Amino acid sequence: MSVLEIRDLHARVEDTEILKGVNLTLESGEIHALMGPNGSGKSTLAYVIAGHPHYEVTQGDILVDGQSLLEMEADERCKAGVFLAFQYPVAVPGVSVANFLRTAVSNVRGYTAQAAQAEGKNATIGSNLMPMREFRKELTDKMKAYNVDPSFARRYLNDGFSGGEKKRTEVLQMAMLEPKFAILDESDSGLDIDALRVVADGINKLATQDRGFLMITHYQRLLNYVTPNKVSIFHGGRIVMTGGPEVAHMLEERGYGWVEKEFGPAKSSTQSAEAVAA
Ligand code: ADP
Ligand code: MG
Repeated sequence: MSVLEIRDLHARVEDTEILKGVNLTLESGEIHALMGPNGSGKSTLAYVIAGHPHYEVTQGDILVDGQSLLEMEADERCKAGVFLAFQYPVAVPGVSVANFLRTAVSNVRGYTAQAAQAEGKNATIGSNLMPMREFRKELTDKMKAYNVDPSFARRYLNDGFSGGEKKRTEVLQMAMLEPKFAILDESDSGLDIDALRVVADGINKLATQDRGFLMITHYQRLLNYVTPNKVSIFHGGRIVMTGGPEVAHMLEERGYGWVEKEFGPAKSSTQSAEAVAA
C-alpha cells in the first residue's frame, strides 16, 4: 500500500499566496473528491503536486511513502508514481500520441536510466526506449480495453482534439503509465454525456486497490458515475470540510454560497505584505 501525504502546504505564485495550509492523506484504493468554487486554488494544488516550476512552496511538504517530492523535477515525480491530468492539456503538434506515450512509459519504467548506466552517460530521454513491438502490443490492448479509437495513436497529442478526446487520451495515459496516484483536474468539464461515461468507465477500471485517485471537480456530475470514498470541500486555499459522498450531494443541493458565508471569501489569493507595500 502507498500513501500520498500533503502536510500544511503553503504555496504562492509570484507575490500571491494561493495555498494556505492544505492537509490531505490519500491511500491506495481510495477515491477522494476535492470540490470547490472557481478561484479557490484547486488547480494550483494540482500543479504544485506535479511540480510546476511557476509555483513556489513556502511551507509544508508533499510525500509519497515518506519520501518528499519537493526537491524532485516533474519527471521524477512521475517516476515516483504521481500522475496529473491537467484541466487544460496542451497540444503538442509534431509529437504523436504513440511517440509521446512510448517516451513517457520508457522513462517511468526505467528503460532510459538503464541505457544511460550501461553507457556510463547521463540519462537523457530517448537514449533508450521500450522495445517497439512490446510497446505496440500493450498500446493496442489498452486502447481496446479503454475504448480509445486506434487512430489516436498516430494523431498529434491533443492537437485539434475535442474536450472528450483529450480526456480519453488522459485515461489512456494513465492506463499506460500505471501511476500509484492520479490527480485529475476537472476531468468532467466540457464533456457530453457519452464522453463522460467513457472517462468514468476508465477511472473505475483504473481505480484498483493499489492506486489512489484525487478527483478535483467543481460539479458533482462525474461523481454520479465514479463513487468517491471521501469528499472534501476546498475553499480559500485549503480544505475546510471532509466527509463521505453525502458532502457532494449536499453541495449539489445547496451550491457553494453557504460555504462562503461559513468560511469567508472563495478567492484564495492574497498579496503578501511586501508586495502590497512595494
Ligand atoms: P481553481 O482551480 O479552484 O478555479 P486556481 O488554482 O486556478 O483555482 O486559482 C486560484 C487563485 O489563484 C485564483 O484567485 C487565481 O486568480 C490565482 N492565480 C492563478 N494563477 C495565478 C498567477 N499566475 N498569478 C497570480 N494569481 C494567480
Ligand atoms: Mg481549476
